Amino acid sequence: MPYENLAGRTAVVTGAASGIGEAVAVLLAEQGARVALLARREERLAVIAGKIRADGGQALAVAADVTDETSVTNAVERIHGACGTVDLVVNAAGVMLPHPVDARRTDEWQRMIDTNVTGVLRVIGAFTADLVAAAADGRSADIVNISSIAAHLGFPNYAVYGATKAAVTYLSQTLRGEFGPRDVRVTNIEPGFVESELRTHISDAELSRQVEGMLEEVGALSAQELADLVAYAASRPRRVNLRQIVALPTRQV
Ligand code: NDP
Repeated sequence: MPYENLAGRTAVVTGAASGIGEAVAVLLAEQGARVALLARREERLAVIAGKIRADGGQALAVAADVTDETSVTNAVERIHGACGTVDLVVNAAGVMLPHPVDARRTDEWQRMIDTNVTGVLRVIGAFTADLVAAAADGRSADIVNISSIAAHLGFPNYAVYGATKAAVTYLSQTLRGEFGPRDVRVTNIEPGFVESELRTHISDAELSRQVEGMLEEVGALSAQELADLVAYAASRPRRVNLRQIVALPTRQV
């Protein structure tokens, strides 16, 4: 088996209604983890969790909005009640809303900052006590954040999205200093193009065409290929922390 050490773990995966988060939830459950799937679309989560259970896995669908404190607090309560202490948190919820900065789309800036940065922090904060307790118990404990190659490369019209991802990369590095001494690992994954719903939320037709053109040229990783990296990182022996993984389609430079 390529991944050891995932059976019996208790995972929360945000953004599990589609794309990378969905693929991570499915793979972790296949490997024997108990998985709480978190996103806003309740029906979609119910279908995915139902499929996981039909395949013999353990899954709980938890509709929640990571930008809303009360919603996350309620989600944590449900997850604790149904699954117990969480030892693996995967932050995949995210939005990418490009526009030239002079369009002054403060609504989009706010949504990206609230989801991609504050949402990640809120979820980490909500499960910190669990992760520290699991590690103190001698178990593996992980935070896996899905950042982006956009944290390093400047793409015109993606300034705010890139800034939120640079923040995730910075947070991941810095949080290692806080969590590592308590045996909680932090892994930051920075993908290039991945097949998902992310680009379907681009509202500017020209920018949408631009992305489709780039995708045609370089291709995209599958969400399952990203899930493989998450599972690989979380299944290393607990003294091994893969701090940073940059995963690009081979033709994307
Ligand atoms: P998707 O759009 O398919 O997935 C995003 C997920 O986040 C959805 O399940 C969505 O579900 C959820 N989500 C969005 N807003 C919230 C919210 N406020 N609260 C809870 N859940 C929310 O895209 P990807 O799978 O590609 O995105 C996953 C992560 O990967 C993102 O952080 C993205 O930035 C990053 N990434 C993606 C790349 C790509 O090329 N696809 C490249 C690099 C990084 P719902 O709408 O039901 O809430």
